[in-house]
Amino acid sequence: MTTENLDEIAKIIRGAKSVLIVTHTFPDGDALGSQLGLAHILKDMGKRVLLYGEDSISYLYEFLPCCTRIDSEVPNPDEVDCAIALDCGDRFRLGKAVDKLLEIKPFIAIDHHAGHKAFGDLRWVVEGRASTGDMVYELSQYLGATVSLDAAYCLYTAIVSDTGSFKYASTTPDTFRIAGELVARGVNPEEVAGKLFDNFTESRLQLLQAVLSTLELYGAGQLAIISATRKMFELTGADKADTETFINYPRSLATVKVAALIKEVDGAIGVSMRSKGRNHDVAEVARRFNGGGHRNAAGCKFRNGETLKEVRDLIFKELLALVENQ
Ligand code: 5GP
Ligand code: MN
Repeated sequence: MTTENLDEIAKIIRGAKSVLIVTHTFPDGDALGSQLGLAHILKDMGKRVLLYGEDSISYLYEFLPCCTRIDSEVPNPDEVDCAIALDCGDRFRLGKAVDKLLEIKPFIAIDHHAGHKAFGDLRWVVEGRASTGDMVYELSQYLGATVSLDAAYCLYTAIVSDTGSFKYASTTPDTFRIAGELVARGVNPEEVAGKLFDNFTESRLQLLQAVLSTLELYGAGQLAIISATRKMFELTGADKADTETFINYPRSLATVKVAALIKEVDGAIGVSMRSKGRNHDVAEVARRFNGGGHRNAAGCKFRNGETLKEVRDLIFKELLALVENQ
């Protein structure tokens, strides 16, 4: 934990006129909510804020204020006074432009991933913290900055996303306190939950139907695996963002301790893993395949032409050992 850097980070932010904020590729609710939330906060402090992201934004997050302003060009280092990476557990999560981004100095990382691999010049990393969004809120308080209603919407969305609606083990009294302060600023929890969880399209529901039909259970029902094939995406017309939250269905089985979703997207195979409780560390399994994440939520990607079946077999072997060794 490098909390002592917070003072130094606050000093840099206060002194900067122009700040670039970035997050990880295929940004989820915590990534985008943190990026946009901090953007609002720094703009309200009178700074010029630039946002970079190489991927298009999932329609799920279009409700976030100023979601359309994320640029796909990295500014030149002399255009900004510092860069801040949010929610990135290692430099490669920054995507294709990682080297160009890291030319910006000072480069600050704010993150909560277990096994965070240090990059950049300054870090504030609290492993196991519920979300990057609540760290951004804490930073705003440290800076004495205003958190507008727009900023509050973004940060609340980040927290709800990464805590599974305040269900995961990372949820602490502080998480509820911060969420409460954001609601006190005017955030409507019903509206955010509606946008995040009750916002399916018909093609997304059809994809869910197809994916659930692949359910495999092993180890006396402790391990569940579901798969989304390229064909299913083609047949339903759904896209890769539509699989977000699908992993919660196998995870919801009473007997399940570990669940995996294997998906064939963009010519690669992505794996999402979830576990319950303290005994099954899926981040450790993800790291064996050059991925990462948290003890109870982690992922990795296979980009070397592996088939879905090959990846499924590799993951199956590791996860079965994980549940059987307990
Ligand atoms: P999800 O399954 O929702 O995509 O990701 C769960 C967690 O694992 C997130 O915290 C995410 O940051 C992390 N994660 C997912 N995919 C990867 C990956 O390819 N590499 C790394 N380092 N972390 C990942
Ligand atoms: Mn996060």
